[in-house]
Amino acid sequence: MLKFLIAIIVFLSIVMINLFKDGNNICDIDDDVYIQREFIKNRPHKPLYQPSANRKFIYLSFDDGPLNGSQNVNSLSLKYKAYMSVFIVGEHLLISNNYKRYLNNYIQNPFIEVSNHSYSHANNQYSKFYSNPKGVLEDFNKSMNLLGLDNKIIRLPGRNIWAFDNRTQNISKTKDTVNLLTNNGFKLIGWDIEWRYDPITKKPIGTAQEFFKKLVKRIKHNQELVTPSNIVVLLHDPMFRKKCKAKELENLITLIKANKNYVLVPLSRYPII
Ligand SMILES: [Zn+2]
Repeated sequence: MLKFLIAIIVFLSIVMINLFKDGNNICDIDDDVYIQREFIKNRPHKPLYQPSANRKFIYLSFDDGPLNGSQNVNSLSLKYKAYMSVFIVGEHLLISNNYKRYLNNYIQNPFIEVSNHSYSHANNQYSKFYSNPKGVLEDFNKSMNLLGLDNKIIRLPGRNIWAFDNRTQNISKTKDTVNLLTNNGFKLIGWDIEWRYDPITKKPIGTAQEFFKKLVKRIKHNQELVTPSNIVVLLHDPMFRKKCKAKELENLITLIKANKNYVLVPLSRYPII
């Protein structure tokens, strides 16, 4: 009799655990099934979760690495299992062995998707750079080969330009360049909101709490978003080189993760319509 009772209790416990699990999976981005690099190679273009009225997708994207600060971005991504996208400048690998190490850490991190931000970063002379479409294509190809990338998601230096999925934004002044890049299979992703930084100290302007407030306002009301319920956030690696500022990034991640309707997603999952 006792054995029978124990068997019933074990059976009911298993049923309860499974019920609880299913309920939790509805909006849990960190399911083991996604902890793999397949999402980069296969490019399924499917949303990770069915859209629902309250669910919002947030894409944290970091430009200009590897630089001092990339190591903190990488370790916070691992600590919080937070999906992020990083746009790498090929030329930075020539500066120091540390930067090569930071890039390798990014590549090995299953929560980070590495993409191309050009080889030269236009040498910060943007008008000259974009007046030579072939040169721009060569610059991106050079970086892609150097980094050994298997995706063609790119971000243009110094320009918030979108061109993918037959949708474009802000392309008027660089039409020839954009056409050449998209004809060569590149997908150009800009951003919806930027956490700005001081150009001299590189420190982020305002606290994580203040930036999060702006982000929530934008996404809640779908204000000026390229795709409703999806917001691409621009950040830069050097903003977080100091420990106290890396703490601000940590605060931003925890604020986002505290709301179960906010889902951190890599850019390869940006919806194709
Ligand atoms: Zn940049």
